[in-house]
Amino acid sequence: MYQVPVDELRTTSSAAVGITLKEAAYILDQAQHRPLLPTELSEFIGAINTPDFEKIKAVVLDCSASIRTRKYGRSVTTLSPVEVTNRCASNCDFCGWRADNTQMGRLTIDEEIVDIQARYLLEKGIEDIELVGGDDIRFVRDALPVLLRRLRSLAPPTSARQLLFCTMALTETQYQTLAACGADGMIMWQETYDEAVYNQNISRGPKAYGIDDDFRIVKNGNGFLFRLQSQDRAARAGLNLSVGAMLGLNKDVAFDVLATVHHARYLCTTYAPVRPLIIGMPTWNKITTPETDNRPEQLLDIEECFSFFAALYLLALSDLNVWVFPTCRVSMASHIEAVKVAGAYTSTEVRTGPGGYLVNALRNVEPKVRQTIIDNMHGEFGNEKISANALVKRLDSFEQFQHYYYPHEEFTRALAVAGISLTRRDGAVELPAV
Ligand code: SF4
Repeated sequence: MYQVPVDELRTTSSAAVGITLKEAAYILDQAQHRPLLPTELSEFIGAINTPDFEKIKAVVLDCSASIRTRKYGRSVTTLSPVEVTNRCASNCDFCGWRADNTQMGRLTIDEEIVDIQARYLLEKGIEDIELVGGDDIRFVRDALPVLLRRLRSLAPPTSARQLLFCTMALTETQYQTLAACGADGMIMWQETYDEAVYNQNISRGPKAYGIDDDFRIVKNGNGFLFRLQSQDRAARAGLNLSVGAMLGLNKDVAFDVLATVHHARYLCTTYAPVRPLIIGMPTWNKITTPETDNRPEQLLDIEECFSFFAALYLLALSDLNVWVFPTCRVSMASHIEAVKVAGAYTSTEVRTGPGGYLVNALRNVEPKVRQTIIDNMHGEFGNEKISANALVKRLDSFEQFQHYYYPHEEFTRALAVAGISLTRRDGAVELPAV
């Protein structure tokens, strides 16, 4: 099972002295034919905030863009999340859904509303669906198996290419259950590979202590390690995998990027997954309840650095079957730049609250069904009659954090302007090695 080689990574991250433009050009020439070494990766990260950063970033992006084109062509595969519940028993300082956020309204949507939203996304051409909930036992134990079976049985052409889920770290038996119900893979970010930073920011619940096979929180358990080794357990259960560190949470950003790359390399070489391993690039945004905002300070200029990190991830893992996954946690310009230079996987239309797509999705359903759902939603909100716009606003208030939102078509057009097209659902790309 995976362990972070803490001393080795710290030594590499602290040895970085920065890099000159000439040295950068030399290394990038080599990187056309082999992945960046950890020491090189660290030196590039050390260039952030130096006077030559803009020039170094430009050559890194250029190099990465040419490898991206060789490895994936000019296409990108899309995923959208469907948030099922914002109930959560864990407490992460950077998240609006944390258990102690008493200002956050809580909402769980039923199977039918999940189904309508998933169909809405799939009919637009989005390929992969991710079912998301906070660390909520009822969601994982009771609802998720049912939802996976239901979505898996949707008839083509509306069936998803991959059905993924994102929730707390689970045991191998629990992953086996979800795989048997139709899940293809798990989305799991470690947040940080530094155990002390993890424990400073994550103070209670399943994420802080881990769970057992009966979904009980482990007394005095090590939640950091339980999460760190979740990909091993999921791989043994036959699921596709992902890794990611929250950019800007750990002030030693090089340590977390080095660890993400190390973890990805370990998973690819240990399990040789058939599907590309997803390299996530999470970061955090404003939450919808400003009066209970506990978020730590963001230590990076994330807009400035986002595409740079996407490029570095690709350059460090160019020999492996991975997909760098930039999402709309940053502005459209930064997001598209990251896709253009490195991202083979991305999100186009995204809502991060339960029922977020509902108002638009209801336009596609029969009037009778639509009316029943609207009546139920009014019931949910104390029988208050609200307009479609007010309902969107109300549903947005349940979001995990504020997100950049664009309709799928608008984002797809912007990608096309950047020379990137969407992969066709029946044309899943097989990746040649660099
Ligand atoms: S990040 Fe996940 S586990 Fe942490 S508070 Fe938010 S929903 Fe809960």
